[in-house]
Amino acid sequence: MKILVATTNLGKINEFKDIFPKKSKILTLSDLSINKDIEETGKTFHQNALLKAMEYNKLSNMPTISEDSGLEISYLNGEPGIYSARYGGESLSDQDRVDLVLEKLSDVPDDRRQARFISVICGVGFKYEPIYSEGYIDGYIAKNKEGNNGFGYDPIFIPVGSEKTAAKMTKEEKNMISHRRKSIDKFLKILRRDKII
Ligand code: IMP
Repeated sequence: MKILVATTNLGKINEFKDIFPKKSKILTLSDLSINKDIEETGKTFHQNALLKAMEYNKLSNMPTISEDSGLEISYLNGEPGIYSARYGGESLSDQDRVDLVLEKLSDVPDDRRQARFISVICGVGFKYEPIYSEGYIDGYIAKNKEGNNGFGYDPIFIPVGSEKTAAKMTKEEKNMISHRRKSIDKFLKILRRDKII
């Protein structure tokens, strides 16, 4: 089955391709030469995932998955949350955003650095109504950035039960436990249950 994974985030695309069973053919927006940018005007991960999936399904006419994800930091009352990709302003790089979080937490002790990655997937075009699945992983924010793998906030996120940041993990290690792994697994379970794949 051909599935459009509607994101331009290369880190996400690679993880989707690695986690999805190889018999599904994952296509990207650039494979279909779709370069329309959709504003994330929703107030929740679910709303944003739905609006992106609906719009790109309309443009591609193909079963479409969209994922809205982000990092919630308890000391920052859940920030950056749905604004994770643009935290601190559109002009910042991923590196700048990591530095911004470290700065905001500079005086915060170890026992108050809890955080959680969340992934919400919405699939449109698989059946009559949209399909949703969610996954999360708990952890805490490191004192310094470490590691070069992964993307986004991986250099400062240490999953519970791990000694190292997600950016120091191999992709296999991260993909075994990540929020995205969990939401994709749940999504696949629904597709199998409903005999869609
Ligand atoms: P969006 O879902 O396109 O709005 O962007 C989600 C943002 O959350 C990304 O740009 C990253 O900053 C952050 N994020 C989501 N998942 C991960 C992850 O697995 N590692 C690191 N950062 C992530």
